[in-house]
Amino acid sequence: MKIAIDIGHNLPCDGGAVGFLNENWCNTAVGMHLISMLEKSQVEVIKCKPGSADDLRDSLKRRVTTANTAKADYYISLHHNAGGGKGSEVFYFSNKGGALASAIVNELALLGFENRGAKKSTHYYVINWSEMPAIIVEACFMDTKTDCELWQRVGAKAVAEAIYKGLNQVLKFSSTPVSA
Ligand SMILES: [Zn+2]
Repeated sequence: MKIAIDIGHNLPCDGGAVGFLNENWCNTAVGMHLISMLEKSQVEVIKCKPGSADDLRDSLKRRVTTANTAKADYYISLHHNAGGGKGSEVFYFSNKGGALASAIVNELALLGFENRGAKKSTHYYVINWSEMPAIIVEACFMDTKTDCELWQRVGAKAVAEAIYKGLNQVLKFSSTPVSA
């Protein structure tokens, strides 16, 4: 099985949210743990964050092109939210994406984040242009103090483990739990 992991933002032309925590940093920290766990479970990980891009649209296009070219089975985009909300939400479009989104958001809620649910959406480039089921994980809000305090208390590894567990519930790539 091939899973494309898109560590969101982290380019000069495509910066993440900055609040009580920095989204670029949180996406990378969670992504590194998640990639390590998946690789330990013999999942082939396609790393989608480009080394450079001309602008925001080019950044998104390069990520999706990498996944499409590699013929990844699933596309997981890692983000943290902003805009004054509270808790975790996961966006999807396809039915299979919906199953992954529900499983992951429920696991994130077990860490203590408010469960904003799995949300069907056509408004995101990576969901629209990827050829495989795709989801965008928004683990919590960078501009909400209580969310950031909880994120720091549980840590990037626990957030990655929650995403891993949700993926594994649906995709069943590992029969034994793997730790980050
Ligand atoms: Zn983001």
